Amino acid sequence: MKTILITGAAGFLGSHLCDRFIKEGYKVIGMDNFITGDKKNISHLLDNLNFQFINHDVTEYIAIDESVDYILHFASPASPIDYLKIPIQTLKVGSLGTHNLLGLAKAKNARILIASTSEIYGDPLVHPQTEDYYGNVNTIGPRGVYDEAKRFQESITMAYHTFHGVETRIVRIFNTYGPRMRLNDGRVIPAFMGQALRGEDLTVFGDGSQTRSFCYVDDQVEGIYRLLLSDYAKPVNIGNPHEISISDFAEEIIKLTGTTQKVIYKDLPVNDPMQRQPDISLAKKLLGWEPKVGREEGMKITFDYFKSLTEDELYKSEH
Ligand code: NAD
Ligand code: UDP
Repeated sequence: MKTILITGAAGFLGSHLCDRFIKEGYKVIGMDNFITGDKKNISHLLDNLNFQFINHDVTEYIAIDESVDYILHFASPASPIDYLKIPIQTLKVGSLGTHNLLGLAKAKNARILIASTSEIYGDPLVHPQTEDYYGNVNTIGPRGVYDEAKRFQESITMAYHTFHGVETRIVRIFNTYGPRMRLNDGRVIPAFMGQALRGEDLTVFGDGSQTRSFCYVDDQVEGIYRLLLSDYAKPVNIGNPHEISISDFAEEIIKLTGTTQKVIYKDLPVNDPMQRQPDISLAKKLLGWEPKVGREEGMKITFDYFKSLTEDELYKSEH
Protein backbone atom coordinates (compact mmCIF):
# COMPACT_ATOMS: atom_id res chain seq x y z
CA MET A 1 0.00 0.00 0.00
CA LYS A 2 1.41 3.43 -1.00
CA THR A 3 1.37 6.30 1.48
CA ILE A 4 0.52 9.86 0.46
CA LEU A 5 0.82 13.00 2.60
CA ILE A 6 -1.76 15.66 1.72
CA THR A 7 -1.31 19.14 3.21
CA GLY A 8 -4.34 21.43 3.40
CA ALA A 9 -6.38 18.26 3.99
CA ALA A 10 -9.18 20.02 5.88
CA GLY A 11 -9.67 22.53 3.08
CA PHE A 12 -11.87 22.38 0.01
CA LEU A 13 -9.53 20.75 -2.53
CA GLY A 14 -7.40 18.90 0.04
CA SER A 15 -10.40 17.06 1.49
CA HIS A 16 -11.61 15.96 -1.97
CA LEU A 17 -8.08 14.74 -2.73
CA CYS A 18 -8.05 12.74 0.53
CA ASP A 19 -11.31 11.07 -0.56
CA ARG A 20 -9.92 10.25 -3.99
CA PHE A 21 -6.68 8.71 -2.77
CA ILE A 22 -8.49 6.68 -0.06
CA LYS A 23 -10.76 5.40 -2.84
CA GLU A 24 -7.71 4.48 -4.95
CA GLY A 25 -6.38 2.33 -2.07
CA TYR A 26 -3.68 4.63 -0.67
CA LYS A 27 -2.86 5.23 2.97
CA VAL A 28 -3.53 8.96 3.39
CA ILE A 29 -1.89 11.20 5.97
CA GLY A 30 -3.79 14.49 6.08
CA MET A 31 -2.11 17.56 7.54
CA ASP A 32 -3.69 20.94 8.33
CA ASN A 33 -3.64 23.72 10.92
CA PHE A 34 -7.28 24.77 10.22
CA ILE A 35 -6.37 28.38 9.47
CA THR A 36 -8.92 28.42 6.63
CA GLY A 37 -10.04 24.78 6.76
CA ASP A 38 -12.83 23.01 8.63
CA LYS A 39 -12.80 19.73 10.61
CA LYS A 40 -16.19 18.95 9.09
CA ASN A 41 -14.56 18.41 5.67
CA ILE A 42 -12.65 15.36 6.93
CA SER A 43 -14.89 14.16 9.79
CA HIS A 44 -16.17 11.29 7.61
CA LEU A 45 -12.58 10.01 7.23
CA LEU A 46 -11.49 10.04 10.86
CA ASP A 47 -12.63 6.44 11.57
CA ASN A 48 -11.04 5.11 8.39
CA LEU A 49 -8.01 2.95 9.24
CA ASN A 50 -6.25 4.13 6.08
CA PHE A 51 -6.56 7.77 7.11
CA GLN A 52 -4.44 9.55 9.68
CA PHE A 53 -4.70 13.23 10.57
CA ILE A 54 -1.91 15.44 11.87
CA ASN A 55 -2.73 18.93 13.15
CA HIS A 56 0.39 20.84 12.14
CA ASP A 57 1.48 24.15 10.64
CA VAL A 58 3.62 23.20 7.62
CA THR A 59 5.76 26.32 8.01
CA GLU A 60 7.25 24.53 11.07
CA TYR A 61 9.59 21.54 10.69
CA ILE A 62 7.65 18.44 9.63
CA ALA A 63 8.61 15.14 11.27
CA ILE A 64 7.09 11.93 9.89
CA ASP A 65 8.50 8.57 11.01
CA GLU A 66 7.00 6.27 8.43
CA SER A 67 7.84 6.05 4.75
CA VAL A 68 6.02 8.38 2.36
CA ASP A 69 5.69 7.70 -1.38
CA TYR A 70 3.84 10.82 -2.52
CA ILE A 71 3.20 14.34 -1.22
CA LEU A 72 0.50 16.77 -2.35
CA HIS A 73 1.18 20.27 -1.01
CA PHE A 74 -2.19 22.05 -0.99
CA ALA A 75 -1.91 24.03 2.25
CA SER A 76 -2.40 27.75 1.57
CA PRO A 77 -5.13 30.32 1.93
CA ALA A 78 -6.73 30.48 -1.51
CA SER A 79 -9.44 33.12 -1.45
CA PRO A 80 -8.51 36.79 -1.95
CA ILE A 81 -10.29 37.73 1.30
CA ASP A 82 -8.31 35.10 3.21
CA TYR A 83 -4.91 36.01 1.88
CA LEU A 84 -5.52 39.72 2.33
CA LYS A 85 -6.42 39.01 5.97
CA ILE A 86 -3.42 36.74 6.64
CA PRO A 87 -0.77 37.95 4.18
CA ILE A 88 2.31 36.89 6.15
CA GLN A 89 1.01 33.36 6.74
CA THR A 90 0.23 33.18 3.01
CA LEU A 91 3.79 34.13 2.10
CA LYS A 92 5.18 31.71 4.68
CA VAL A 93 3.14 28.68 3.65
CA GLY A 94 4.12 29.15 -0.01
CA SER A 95 7.81 29.68 0.80
CA LEU A 96 8.86 28.12 4.14
CA GLY A 97 6.09 25.52 3.98
CA THR A 98 7.06 24.47 0.47
CA HIS A 99 10.73 24.33 1.48
CA ASN A 100 9.87 22.00 4.38
CA LEU A 101 7.82 19.74 2.14
CA LEU A 102 10.47 19.59 -0.57
CA GLY A 103 13.00 18.69 2.14
CA LEU A 104 10.68 15.96 3.34
CA ALA A 105 10.23 14.68 -0.23
CA LYS A 106 14.00 14.55 -0.65
CA ALA A 107 14.52 12.73 2.68
CA LYS A 108 11.76 10.20 1.95
CA ASN A 109 12.55 9.83 -1.75
CA ALA A 110 8.91 10.76 -2.39
CA ARG A 111 7.32 12.35 -5.44
CA ILE A 112 5.79 15.76 -4.65
CA LEU A 113 3.09 17.72 -6.46
CA ILE A 114 2.57 21.33 -5.49
CA ALA A 115 -0.61 23.37 -5.96
CA SER A 116 0.19 26.43 -8.03
CA THR A 117 -2.42 28.71 -9.52
CA SER A 118 -3.60 30.74 -12.49
CA GLU A 119 -2.77 33.75 -10.27
CA ILE A 120 0.87 33.35 -11.23
CA TYR A 121 -0.24 34.84 -14.58
CA GLY A 122 -1.52 37.91 -12.68
CA ASP A 123 -3.71 40.21 -14.80
CA PRO A 124 -2.75 38.38 -18.00
CA LEU A 125 -1.75 40.09 -21.23
CA VAL A 126 -1.95 36.77 -23.10
CA HIS A 127 -5.34 35.13 -23.55
CA PRO A 128 -6.08 32.27 -23.07
CA GLN A 129 -3.16 31.56 -20.74
CA THR A 130 -0.63 28.99 -21.91
CA GLU A 131 2.01 27.52 -19.60
CA ASP A 132 4.81 29.39 -21.40
CA TYR A 133 3.34 32.81 -20.50
CA TYR A 134 5.43 34.47 -17.75
CA GLY A 135 2.61 36.54 -16.27
CA ASN A 136 1.86 40.10 -15.26
CA VAL A 137 1.96 40.39 -11.46
CA ASN A 138 2.21 43.49 -9.28
CA THR A 139 4.68 42.27 -6.64
CA ILE A 140 3.66 44.92 -4.10
CA GLY A 141 -0.08 44.96 -4.83
CA PRO A 142 -2.47 43.41 -2.30
CA ARG A 143 -2.64 40.12 -4.23
CA GLY A 144 1.16 40.00 -4.53
CA VAL A 145 1.47 38.04 -1.25
CA TYR A 146 -0.35 35.11 -2.82
CA ASP A 147 0.90 35.44 -6.39
CA GLU A 148 4.55 35.83 -5.46
CA ALA A 149 4.40 33.06 -2.83
CA LYS A 150 3.10 30.76 -5.56
CA ARG A 151 5.70 31.95 -8.08
CA PHE A 152 8.46 31.33 -5.51
CA GLN A 153 6.88 27.95 -4.81
CA GLU A 154 7.24 26.99 -8.48
CA SER A 155 10.87 28.21 -8.55
CA ILE A 156 12.00 26.33 -5.46
CA THR A 157 10.18 23.22 -6.68
CA MET A 158 12.03 23.33 -10.02
CA ALA A 159 15.29 23.96 -8.14
CA TYR A 160 14.78 20.84 -5.99
CA HIS A 161 14.02 18.94 -9.17
CA THR A 162 17.11 20.19 -10.99
CA PHE A 163 19.64 20.27 -8.13
CA HIS A 164 18.46 17.43 -5.90
CA GLY A 165 16.75 15.20 -8.46
CA VAL A 166 13.47 15.25 -6.50
CA GLU A 167 10.52 14.01 -8.55
CA THR A 168 8.28 17.07 -8.73
CA ARG A 169 4.97 18.02 -10.37
CA ILE A 170 3.39 21.48 -10.63
CA VAL A 171 -0.31 22.00 -11.26
CA ARG A 172 -1.56 25.48 -12.16
CA ILE A 173 -5.12 25.37 -10.89
CA PHE A 174 -7.75 27.68 -12.41
CA ASN A 175 -10.85 28.71 -10.39
CA THR A 176 -12.33 25.48 -9.05
CA TYR A 177 -15.61 25.08 -7.18
CA GLY A 178 -17.88 22.51 -5.58
CA PRO A 179 -19.18 21.19 -2.27
CA ARG A 180 -17.10 22.04 0.86
CA MET A 181 -16.12 25.51 -0.27
CA ARG A 182 -16.50 27.80 2.74
CA LEU A 183 -19.70 29.79 2.41
CA ASN A 184 -18.02 32.94 3.71
CA ASP A 185 -14.62 32.68 2.06
CA GLY A 186 -15.48 35.60 -0.24
CA ARG A 187 -14.93 33.72 -3.51
CA VAL A 188 -17.56 34.55 -6.07
CA ILE A 189 -19.47 31.23 -6.10
CA PRO A 190 -20.03 30.87 -2.34
CA ALA A 191 -20.59 34.66 -2.17
CA PHE A 192 -23.40 34.66 -4.77
CA MET A 193 -24.98 31.43 -3.52
CA GLY A 194 -24.87 32.59 0.12
CA GLN A 195 -26.42 35.91 -0.88
CA ALA A 196 -29.19 34.15 -2.79
CA LEU A 197 -29.92 31.85 0.18
CA ARG A 198 -30.01 34.75 2.67
CA GLY A 199 -32.19 36.88 0.39
CA GLU A 200 -29.49 39.50 -0.16
CA ASP A 201 -28.57 41.30 -3.38
CA LEU A 202 -25.74 39.77 -5.41
CA THR A 203 -22.55 41.87 -5.22
CA VAL A 204 -20.78 42.17 -8.57
CA PHE A 205 -17.39 43.86 -8.27
CA GLY A 206 -16.51 46.47 -10.91
CA ASP A 207 -18.77 46.51 -13.97
CA GLY A 208 -18.76 42.69 -14.08
CA SER A 209 -17.02 42.52 -17.46
CA GLN A 210 -14.05 40.65 -15.95
CA THR A 211 -14.08 36.96 -16.84
CA ARG A 212 -13.35 33.68 -15.08
CA SER A 213 -13.56 30.03 -16.18
CA PHE A 214 -14.94 27.71 -13.50
CA CYS A 215 -13.89 24.07 -13.13
CA TYR A 216 -15.90 21.50 -11.15
CA VAL A 217 -13.94 19.88 -8.32
CA ASP A 218 -14.20 16.27 -9.58
CA ASP A 219 -12.64 17.31 -12.90
CA GLN A 220 -9.87 19.15 -11.07
CA VAL A 221 -9.13 16.15 -8.84
CA GLU A 222 -8.97 13.85 -11.89
CA GLY A 223 -6.47 16.19 -13.59
CA ILE A 224 -4.31 16.36 -10.45
CA TYR A 225 -4.43 12.58 -10.05
CA ARG A 226 -3.28 12.04 -13.63
CA LEU A 227 -0.55 14.67 -13.38
CA LEU A 228 0.85 13.13 -10.19
CA LEU A 229 1.14 9.76 -11.90
CA SER A 230 2.63 11.24 -15.09
CA ASP A 231 6.34 11.78 -15.70
CA TYR A 232 6.09 15.51 -16.53
CA ALA A 233 7.91 17.92 -14.17
CA LYS A 234 7.02 21.29 -15.72
CA PRO A 235 3.82 23.23 -14.87
CA VAL A 236 0.49 22.10 -16.31
CA ASN A 237 -2.75 24.14 -16.41
CA ILE A 238 -5.80 22.33 -15.08
CA GLY A 239 -9.09 24.17 -15.41
CA ASN A 240 -12.26 24.44 -17.47
CA PRO A 241 -11.83 26.73 -20.49
CA HIS A 242 -15.52 27.68 -20.59
CA GLU A 243 -15.18 31.42 -19.88
CA ILE A 244 -17.93 33.74 -18.60
CA SER A 245 -18.12 37.37 -17.46
CA ILE A 246 -18.96 37.88 -13.79
CA SER A 247 -22.13 39.86 -14.64
CA ASP A 248 -23.42 37.04 -16.88
CA PHE A 249 -22.48 34.59 -14.17
CA ALA A 250 -24.56 36.56 -11.61
CA GLU A 251 -27.53 36.23 -13.97
CA GLU A 252 -26.97 32.46 -14.20
CA ILE A 253 -26.94 32.23 -10.40
CA ILE A 254 -30.16 34.26 -10.17
CA LYS A 255 -31.80 31.79 -12.55
CA LEU A 256 -30.41 28.71 -10.79
CA THR A 257 -31.35 29.82 -7.28
CA GLY A 258 -34.66 31.44 -8.17
CA THR A 259 -33.80 34.44 -5.99
CA THR A 260 -35.86 37.59 -6.47
CA GLN A 261 -32.93 39.76 -5.41
CA LYS A 262 -31.05 41.98 -7.86
CA VAL A 263 -27.42 42.60 -8.77
CA ILE A 264 -25.66 45.50 -7.06
CA TYR A 265 -22.26 46.84 -8.08
CA LYS A 266 -19.30 47.38 -5.74
CA ASP A 267 -15.74 48.59 -6.31
CA LEU A 268 -13.43 46.25 -8.20
CA PRO A 269 -10.66 44.98 -5.87
CA VAL A 270 -7.17 46.32 -6.69
CA ASN A 271 -5.36 44.24 -9.35
CA ASP A 272 -8.38 41.98 -9.90
CA PRO A 273 -7.49 40.12 -13.13
CA MET A 274 -9.71 41.26 -16.02
CA GLN A 275 -9.73 37.98 -17.90
CA ARG A 276 -8.84 34.40 -17.18
CA GLN A 277 -9.15 31.26 -19.27
CA PRO A 278 -6.87 28.25 -19.26
CA ASP A 279 -5.36 26.87 -22.42
CA ILE A 280 -5.53 23.15 -21.64
CA SER A 281 -3.89 21.77 -24.79
CA LEU A 282 -0.94 20.50 -22.77
CA ALA A 283 -3.10 18.63 -20.23
CA LYS A 284 -5.11 17.11 -23.08
CA LYS A 285 -1.97 15.93 -24.86
CA LEU A 286 0.02 14.76 -21.83
CA LEU A 287 -2.68 13.38 -19.59
CA GLY A 288 -5.56 12.70 -21.98
CA TRP A 289 -7.54 14.94 -19.60
CA GLU A 290 -10.32 17.39 -20.19
CA PRO A 291 -13.20 18.54 -17.97
CA LYS A 292 -16.43 16.57 -18.15
CA VAL A 293 -18.82 18.45 -15.85
CA GLY A 294 -20.55 21.47 -17.37
CA ARG A 295 -21.24 24.62 -15.37
CA GLU A 296 -24.99 23.99 -15.17
CA GLU A 297 -24.54 20.55 -13.64
CA GLY A 298 -21.66 21.55 -11.34
CA MET A 299 -23.42 24.67 -10.05
CA LYS A 300 -26.55 22.70 -9.27
CA ILE A 301 -24.59 20.17 -7.17
CA THR A 302 -22.79 23.02 -5.42
CA PHE A 303 -26.01 24.92 -4.70
CA ASP A 304 -27.58 21.74 -3.28
CA TYR A 305 -24.58 21.54 -0.93
CA PHE A 306 -24.97 25.14 0.26
CA LYS A 307 -28.72 24.59 0.68
CA SER A 308 -27.97 21.69 3.02
CA LEU A 309 -26.05 23.91 5.48
CA THR A 310 -27.62 24.87 8.81
CA GLU A 311 -29.03 28.35 9.53
CA ASP A 312 -26.07 28.94 11.85
CA GLU A 313 -23.61 28.16 9.07
CA LEU A 314 -25.55 30.29 6.60
CA TYR A 315 -25.53 33.35 8.84
CA LYS A 316 -22.07 32.90 10.37
CA SER A 317 -20.17 36.00 9.33
CA GLU A 318 -16.40 36.01 9.22
CA HIS A 319 -15.72 39.32 7.60
P1 NAD B 1 -8.85 26.14 1.36
O1 NAD B 1 -8.65 27.41 2.09
O2 NAD B 1 -10.21 25.51 1.41
O3 NAD B 1 -7.81 25.05 1.85
C1 NAD B 1 -6.52 25.34 2.24
C2 NAD B 1 -6.18 24.52 3.47
O4 NAD B 1 -4.81 24.74 3.83
C3 NAD B 1 -7.03 24.89 4.69
O5 NAD B 1 -7.61 23.75 5.27
C4 NAD B 1 -6.03 25.56 5.63
O6 NAD B 1 -6.38 25.43 6.99
C5 NAD B 1 -4.73 24.85 5.25
N1 NAD B 1 -3.53 25.62 5.60
C6 NAD B 1 -3.24 26.90 5.25
N2 NAD B 1 -2.03 27.26 5.76
C7 NAD B 1 -1.56 26.17 6.42
C8 NAD B 1 -0.36 25.90 7.14
N3 NAD B 1 0.59 26.84 7.31
N4 NAD B 1 -0.19 24.66 7.66
C9 NAD B 1 -1.13 23.70 7.52
N5 NAD B 1 -2.28 23.90 6.85
C10 NAD B 1 -2.50 25.12 6.31
O7 NAD B 1 -8.42 26.41 -0.15
P2 NAD B 1 -8.56 25.49 -1.46
O8 NAD B 1 -9.43 26.16 -2.42
O9 NAD B 1 -8.86 24.10 -1.06
O10 NAD B 1 -7.08 25.57 -2.03
C11 NAD B 1 -6.14 24.53 -1.82
C12 NAD B 1 -4.88 24.79 -2.60
O11 NAD B 1 -5.18 24.89 -4.00
C13 NAD B 1 -4.16 26.08 -2.21
O12 NAD B 1 -2.77 25.86 -2.26
C14 NAD B 1 -4.57 27.04 -3.31
O13 NAD B 1 -3.60 28.05 -3.51
C15 NAD B 1 -4.69 26.12 -4.51
N6 NAD B 1 -5.59 26.67 -5.52
C16 NAD B 1 -6.95 26.59 -5.36
C17 NAD B 1 -7.78 27.13 -6.33
C18 NAD B 1 -9.27 27.02 -6.25
O14 NAD B 1 -9.95 27.52 -7.15
N7 NAD B 1 -9.86 26.39 -5.26
C19 NAD B 1 -7.22 27.79 -7.45
C20 NAD B 1 -5.84 27.88 -7.55
C21 NAD B 1 -5.03 27.30 -6.58
N1 UDP C 1 -16.43 38.85 -7.34
C1 UDP C 1 -17.62 39.57 -7.39
N2 UDP C 1 -18.43 39.57 -6.30
C2 UDP C 1 -18.14 38.88 -5.16
C3 UDP C 1 -16.94 38.13 -5.12
C4 UDP C 1 -16.11 38.16 -6.23
O1 UDP C 1 -17.93 40.22 -8.42
O2 UDP C 1 -18.94 38.94 -4.20
C5 UDP C 1 -15.56 38.86 -8.53
C6 UDP C 1 -14.09 39.18 -8.25
O3 UDP C 1 -13.88 40.58 -8.26
C7 UDP C 1 -13.41 38.47 -9.40
C8 UDP C 1 -14.29 37.25 -9.66
O4 UDP C 1 -15.55 37.54 -9.04
O5 UDP C 1 -13.38 39.28 -10.54
C9 UDP C 1 -13.75 35.96 -9.09
O6 UDP C 1 -13.41 36.20 -7.75
P1 UDP C 1 -12.90 35.05 -6.77
O7 UDP C 1 -12.59 35.71 -5.47
O8 UDP C 1 -13.88 33.94 -6.75
O9 UDP C 1 -11.60 34.47 -7.47
P2 UDP C 1 -10.29 35.11 -8.14
O10 UDP C 1 -10.42 36.61 -8.22
O11 UDP C 1 -9.18 34.69 -7.24
O12 UDP C 1 -10.27 34.50 -9.46
